[in-house]
Amino acid sequence: MTAPQPPQQPQPSPLPQPPPLPQPRPLAGSPAAAPSANDREMLHLTEQTRTYPCANCGDALVWDPAVGQLRSPSCGSTYPVLLDASKHLSPHPLGPTLAELRARAQSAEQVQVVDHEVVCQSCGGHTLFSGTLTAVRCPYCNTPIQRTDVQVAPARLPIDGILPLRVGEDSARQNIEAWVNSRWFAPREFKKYRVLGSFTSVYLSYYSYDAEVTTDYSGARGTTRTRRDRDGNVETYTDWWPVSGRVHDSIRQLTESANTGLDGDRVRELEPWPTEQAVTYTPEFVAGHLARTYDGDAGQVFEAQARGRIENIVENTVRRDIGGDAQRITRMNPVYQSVDFLYLLMPVWLLTVTFADKPFQVFVNGITGEVQGQRPWSAIKIAFAVLAALIVVGLAVYLYMQARGG
Ligand SMILES: [Zn+2]
Ligand SMILES: [Zn+2]
Repeated sequence: MTAPQPPQQPQPSPLPQPPPLPQPRPLAGSPAAAPSANDREMLHLTEQTRTYPCANCGDALVWDPAVGQLRSPSCGSTYPVLLDASKHLSPHPLGPTLAELRARAQSAEQVQVVDHEVVCQSCGGHTLFSGTLTAVRCPYCNTPIQRTDVQVAPARLPIDGILPLRVGEDSARQNIEAWVNSRWFAPREFKKYRVLGSFTSVYLSYYSYDAEVTTDYSGARGTTRTRRDRDGNVETYTDWWPVSGRVHDSIRQLTESANTGLDGDRVRELEPWPTEQAVTYTPEFVAGHLARTYDGDAGQVFEAQARGRIENIVENTVRRDIGGDAQRITRMNPVYQSVDFLYLLMPVWLLTVTFADKPFQVFVNGITGEVQGQRPWSAIKIAFAVLAALIVVGLAVYLYMQARGG
């Protein structure tokens, strides 16, 4: 792309620059806003990054979920994303892939395309972008992005697959609007999110794990029986028989978030993702959007999150295998024959509003449009509601006493 260049490109100054003023992101479909003075350094930096110029007007194309194609924000031309049908999503073996990644990081091998990312100095979030950086605030903590936050992305696990963003900006905004308005307890100030918040489309990082696990176990099977005691009363008791055995679990597409620093509970509520609909990653789907790269690699996330979930599944299998009315497990030894993973991107729209010095995040699932979020509670509104409830309860008690007394 030929980014709009000012006639005289200033050299990057070594002095820190003041943060750019917050400004609303141009709506999808409106002509691209002229770059402000504060954007120039960004444009300069992003010249080497991957862009998709419009063949008609040269503007950078963006992935437009409304048309399901790349679209030129300036002239409206659309271009289909051509997927290589010969490429399949095939999971990687966990151990060897991580060893290779570490070796590659040490050899400092040159990558062909220079990807740039924003590293937020406030929350530490890493965000990849292609072409021009459209966000002026960190999408996760709402801190203004500084020029010095932009750096060349380090060697990372390559992205395997993506669920292309399906919900457009207009419907995402409508869903957010309806959600905020239905929250009576939200403080009035929070409702100024339109001007004060950061609202951005961003792909989040996930791993999808497949695992083959064989587990030897020993324990006891309990059978509930009844008997009569000396007085002739029926009592139930459990009869235990020692058992041992071996079970096998084939775990498929266990999805785990690879991002930290987000509101973890809300992120989990965005699940389940239709991972079976993921297509082979091509950066065109991210054009004009942000992508949060992983905070933990596939091995770290496996140890911290996936292993525990898999072992819960294994425990259920063991219990089913023991059978009976009750089960005791005294020994359970899961052995992994294989662990494979895919690195996937899943789309969300993310609203972050700073309130009382804390970032509050509201997510819109970029596939279903479902809203998951938190928002601050207004102490005054809650106090009034509690007071009203107490008056009602007090009144009810009073009337009850009166009725009883009379
Ligand atoms: Zn165009
Ligand atoms: Zn941040």
